[in-house]
Amino acid sequence: MKFLFLLIPLFIGITACVAQSSDINSSGAKMDFEAYDPPSTLVVPENMVTRARFPFIDVHSHQWNMGSRDLDKLAGEMDDLNMGVMVNLSGGSGGQITAAMSNINKSHSNRFIVFANVNFEGVGSKDWGKKAAQQLEEDVKNGANGLKVFKNLGLSNKDTDGKRIAVDDPRLDPVWAKCGELGIPVLIHSADPEPFWDPHDENNERWLELKLRSGRKRGDTNPAPWETIIQEQHNMFKKHPNTKFINAHMGWYANDLTKLAQLLDEIPNMYVEIAAVIAELGRQPRNAKQFMTKYQDRILFGKDAYNPEEYYTYFRVLETEDEYFPYYKRYHAFWRMYGLGLPDDVLKKLYYKNALKIIPHIDASLFPR
Ligand SMILES: [Zn+2]
Repeated sequence: MKFLFLLIPLFIGITACVAQSSDINSSGAKMDFEAYDPPSTLVVPENMVTRARFPFIDVHSHQWNMGSRDLDKLAGEMDDLNMGVMVNLSGGSGGQITAAMSNINKSHSNRFIVFANVNFEGVGSKDWGKKAAQQLEEDVKNGANGLKVFKNLGLSNKDTDGKRIAVDDPRLDPVWAKCGELGIPVLIHSADPEPFWDPHDENNERWLELKLRSGRKRGDTNPAPWETIIQEQHNMFKKHPNTKFINAHMGWYANDLTKLAQLLDEIPNMYVEIAAVIAELGRQPRNAKQFMTKYQDRILFGKDAYNPEEYYTYFRVLETEDEYFPYYKRYHAFWRMYGLGLPDDVLKKLYYKNALKIIPHIDASLFPR
């Protein structure tokens, strides 16, 4: 009886609270997802990092007009970030490579590495693979140190019959084999984040991105299921064990590191880089630290879109143990992140040691031993 007596005021208190909160909703104060972004009231130590702890190699960058632009400004920004070497994946082929290399060699010969690109137009015509492999060989002779394959392969590139070219199309095999023979890696981006294929509704973590960039919406026939394209990529890696592949954006499995671990175990010639998926790592700091420690020889640093101040967020996630801090693009990540606090030996592999092993002709003297 005494117990019940105590409970009654508690019950009244709860009903009062419920009534109050439903009053707020019914007064029209519902807010949309984009508007609701309150500054955090949490007070915890903040360690902003504007310069990486060790010199690093960004293996995933895109720069244009490398043949004609003044590289001093770019090199200066790289110095500020402690970026020793930038890998420009948008090298093109033929004259673009030679022009870029002569410009780079004029002033900053050891700061830039260039990857060539293969033109997938004409797949289906006689000897396409042989000719593409020959062109690549020439590009490498002229200074390219890798091949970058854009996501168009598997999504939009069509053969001479107008059919989608699968990532594991055997007509491309001479290109992958040539990379193995030349000892250059292939950095490849296939498909896109899986939620782009899911219904655009309240269950989709990329809802905002699909709202703002509706062209990114995909479907099972636009142009094929996500799983199909991803599987094609893995098939191709397995078919060419003598070629090293750097799977861009952690192969779109940064949100499922158990699956990614299984793939790394299955495919020893596959490496990954972390461009554009740092928010996935930052929302699972303990799991990600464990993963990056276990696979420390297989992960490279990449950024993709070149905006110097965005690197700070990468450094902070990788180097600090900061808590509950925001990512810079809400449409990639509406959640907040936590630092992994990677140990120095793991950090050094991620920042430069792995890239030095896989990508030829990087000047190792720019980096600590
Ligand atoms: Zn890219």
